[in-house]
Amino acid sequence: MQHDHDIIIVGGGMVGAALAARLGHTGLSVGLVEQGDAPTAPSGDYDLRISSLNARSLAFIKASGTALPQERSCPFRHIDVANQDGTGHSLFSAEESGMEDFGIFIENQTLQYALWQRLEQLPSVSCYTHCAPISTGTASNARTLELDNGTTLSARLIVGADGANSTLRALAGISVTSYDYHQRAMIINVETELPQQDVSWQVFTPTGPLAMLPLPGQRASLVWYDRDETTKAREQLDDDALKTAIETAFPKRLGGITRIVARASFPIKRQHAQRYIGTRLALIGDAAHVVHPLAGQGLNIGLHDADTLAEIIIKGRDAGDSINLLRFECQRRVANQAMIAATDSFHHLFTGAKPLRQLGDLSLQIAERFPLAKRMMMQQANGLNPFKMR
Ligand SMILES: Cc1cc2nc3c(=O)[nH]c(=O)nc-3n(C[C@H](O)[C@H](O)[C@H](O)COP(=O)(O)OP(=O)(O)OC[C@H]3O[C@@H](n4cnc5c(N)ncnc54)[C@H](O)[C@@H]3O)c2cc1C
Repeated sequence: MQHDHDIIIVGGGMVGAALAARLGHTGLSVGLVEQGDAPTAPSGDYDLRISSLNARSLAFIKASGTALPQERSCPFRHIDVANQDGTGHSLFSAEESGMEDFGIFIENQTLQYALWQRLEQLPSVSCYTHCAPISTGTASNARTLELDNGTTLSARLIVGADGANSTLRALAGISVTSYDYHQRAMIINVETELPQQDVSWQVFTPTGPLAMLPLPGQRASLVWYDRDETTKAREQLDDDALKTAIETAFPKRLGGITRIVARASFPIKRQHAQRYIGTRLALIGDAAHVVHPLAGQGLNIGLHDADTLAEIIIKGRDAGDSINLLRFECQRRVANQAMIAATDSFHHLFTGAKPLRQLGDLSLQIAERFPLAKRMMMQQANGLNPFKMR
């Protein structure tokens, strides 16, 4: 069976679903291919995977007509960055950067579910679940995609949003450069004695940062970056021992831990596709790039890819036109390369040899002393133009 669409998107994660919703909202015919189930409604305890969404990402999601449930998200207005021995410290405040807040923290599942709910309302979007591409080819003014359930799809443009191990990227013969940080991020959702407010904080230690992302009420998501082997040993601790380890390592301002709600760990790497585009094909999100998560920007830059591509598609006459795709690649590669370099330098400045760490401390002191530099850094991190004065 063959189905024709304007655009096919492979991967219904947060980035792929957001692009499908934005394009479907304008009436374009979109086929979304997802190997898994449609996401289910979040309920009860918070999901382990939490992401920050900055101003540009929120505006993009809003432009697709998607409503995010406020009760499961937490706005943050301050970012507190310090090193462990207290020689470097900087407090970034949304107000002094000319913004109401820096964005929100939201569970990945809540965001993905909200986007899929929106897709259900859009008559021009068809979701193909439990299937994956096995081959792709070009036809006149179109690209075809053969799925493992016997269906063939065709469209003017096929977008790969199928994550770091993208099948579409492999089928298109696009290779990646990658780097293993030999670090893992242990994510621990906790209940705390103190209510968490609107501050997200990060403390750099020589073996990796400790971060606290606030959730509504007396909940927080802790991210503990450390060497592979140390994290694997820490994962063996029972809840009481882990609670004690957190209370010892994390700053006292977190308050006591009343319950470990859930935990898991993820390897940390960076990866960049050699090309973002091919004939009537484009890659977005983690399929195109994976950055160190310490600055909470991986999903944001994936949504910015989707935003840029959507604008080009909506304004253009042929979604897969090679000049338009080249424009997409030029704009996004420069921005993403800058983010990869910035997160990489943060990692090396704060976890490298002592002279590098001293440089890291100095950068926090500079940020603290030069409000304009600080404001520009924050606007850049929010996907806003730092040179536009408000
Ligand atoms: C510890 C950690 C913390 C992070 N915190 C943040 C944060 O605070 N802020 C932030 O911006 N980013 C953060 N990130 C990064 C963020 O999680 C990723 O950048 C984001 O999830 C990428 O989304 P995606 O939709 O591109 O890919 P994915 O989330 O990987 O989604 C890919 C989708 O494609 C589907 N798929 C895969 N293969 C196929 C196939 N062959 N056929 C069909 N479907 C397929 C998958 O089932 C999935 O639904 C963090 C990452 C880590 C590891």
